[in-house]
Amino acid sequence: MSTFSELGLKEPIKKALVDLGYETPTVIQEKAIPQIINSDQDLKAFAQTGTGKTAAFSLPIIEQVDPSIKSTQAIILSPTRELAVQIGKNIEEFSKYIPDLKVATVYGGANIEQQIKQLKKGVQIVIGTPGRTVDLIKRRVLNLSQVQWLVLDEADEMLNMGFKDELDKVLEATPESKQTLLFSATFPKEVEAIAKNYMSDPVEITSGQKNQGSDNVSHEYYLVTERTRYAALKRVADVNPNIYAIVFCRTRRETQEVADFLIRDGYSADALHGDLSQGQRDSVMEKFRKKNIQMLVATDVAARGLDVDNLTHVINHKLPDQIENYNHRSGRTGRAGNKGISIALVTKKERGRLHPIERIIKKKFVHTPVPSGKEICEKQLFHLIDKVKNISVNEEEIAEFTPAINEMLAGLSREELIQKFVSLEFNTFLSYYQNAPDLNDLSSKENSRGRSSSEDMTRFFINLGRKDRLNPAKLIGLINDQGIGDKIEIGAIDILDTFSFFELDKNFEEQALLKFQENEPDFNGRNVNIEITKTDRGGGRDRNRRRGKSGGGFNGKRRSRDAKPNSKREFGRRREDTSPKKAHSGFGRRRRKS
Ligand code: AMP
Repeated sequence: MSTFSELGLKEPIKKALVDLGYETPTVIQEKAIPQIINSDQDLKAFAQTGTGKTAAFSLPIIEQVDPSIKSTQAIILSPTRELAVQIGKNIEEFSKYIPDLKVATVYGGANIEQQIKQLKKGVQIVIGTPGRTVDLIKRRVLNLSQVQWLVLDEADEMLNMGFKDELDKVLEATPESKQTLLFSATFPKEVEAIAKNYMSDPVEITSGQKNQGSDNVSHEYYLVTERTRYAALKRVADVNPNIYAIVFCRTRRETQEVADFLIRDGYSADALHGDLSQGQRDSVMEKFRKKNIQMLVATDVAARGLDVDNLTHVINHKLPDQIENYNHRSGRTGRAGNKGISIALVTKKERGRLHPIERIIKKKFVHTPVPSGKEICEKQLFHLIDKVKNISVNEEEIAEFTPAINEMLAGLSREELIQKFVSLEFNTFLSYYQNAPDLNDLSSKENSRGRSSSEDMTRFFINLGRKDRLNPAKLIGLINDQGIGDKIEIGAIDILDTFSFFELDKNFEEQALLKFQENEPDFNGRNVNIEITKTDRGGGRDRNRRRGKSGGGFNGKRRSRDAKPNSKREFGRRREDTSPKKAHSGFGRRRRKS
């Protein structure tokens, strides 16, 4: 293993690294730094977050930039504002003993005038998000004609986010002679195309195996059903009282919903996604960094700029659409020498998607049973005892109350006292989980019944039939067009002459009614109405409700007997309707979103 001195860095940089506590270079730094310093050749690096890639490209650039020349000599493109800010901050730290070196970070959603003012003063290194960078080029305030280094950081993510045109424009604004440094965790064909079109004979380096996950991360999967997914998530939190995790979701809506549920159930959680304003996002990230929030529910993109080293878990509430993103997600834990666990909550149907991921990470997922109520109670109990044992006692402050307390507790033995204190904190968990079902059983039963399990489906009537040229494919299209939920499960379909029936995942019934009412869909000129049919399977409950254009009999207040006052669409809350956290102050901080 080499040292930073051996990599050819000058004194002021090495001094800054000592201040930051960087002792030895990481693998990617060891490979990239001398390569970039000693050669003009373009470079393609397979590196994920957490590998030290920021320093790998920043340090050799800082080493070579000429601070006596005011022109922009390096441009670093990053997919998100958060990541750009992070890189800018790192570069400022790395170059703090090089006084004339100026760095600017430019990104959308912030005052452009200020950024322009800064650029006009002369900045040698610019870090930017693609959109704002192009904007500044067009306004002729950012001149890239003297650029010697172009860095494309998280190139795969930039392309995922649709920045292809912006990348092209920035690349066009830079001179041929520059050295292009492309960093990406994955190399799908779009990234390869950029490498092919804009780089000449790049040298390839990797931090370990291409796309392979960190050795410090173990990968587990829990078999759930749509109905038990959320309950399983809560159990993961309950069985890990010190959890500090990112819960990844696929869509903004899913993210907000999971976070809302967790908050409502008393967990220390919040949401991070693109529908939030920049101010809200900054505030959530700050709270998470400071550990005022234990669980951050986030989309892949929003979590990108978050630099947190000590996550205990990454939880895949749902697997990412693009399997490569699993690597990005799980790479958020097991960083800086820590161990981490990446958990995937998967249904039997989704389980097949683990295999291609296993091939990428070159590790096997371990099937782990969803924690039982007993296991959780045990964990929480010992966590409590540990807390009691380690709590620092402020003798002075409590001294004045001690005599009165002693008097009140007189007559209780040590054993009784322990039992009572423990019960005070612990009873809520105990009673909550006492009769909790085994979620593993539920998932196996459900899975063995298959997707058309009648208990889990709601049968709908729709006022369209063969005479309206409805067929199953068109009906599925019509249902999917309403935006009821992601990959909503559609069961049996019966198309009759003038009307039809279809089944939907029961968890989506409210949402289906609502969406059909809101969207007022039209099918071949006919207004579409749906209603829940009387079921002959469910013990004769009268569940006949309509939500057509007129609003039918449903006004949002009448609910079927089994719906909880607060029940929302997606998350199965029938079996674990409340939370042990809800009425409990001892575990985790209870908080409400303002
Ligand atoms: P990155 O992959 O650039 O996001 O870096 C991941 C984390 O590792 C950041 O918190 C860096 O500050 C830290 N880091 C990077 N390189 C080193 C190093 N050589 N020694 C110690 N920490 C490092």
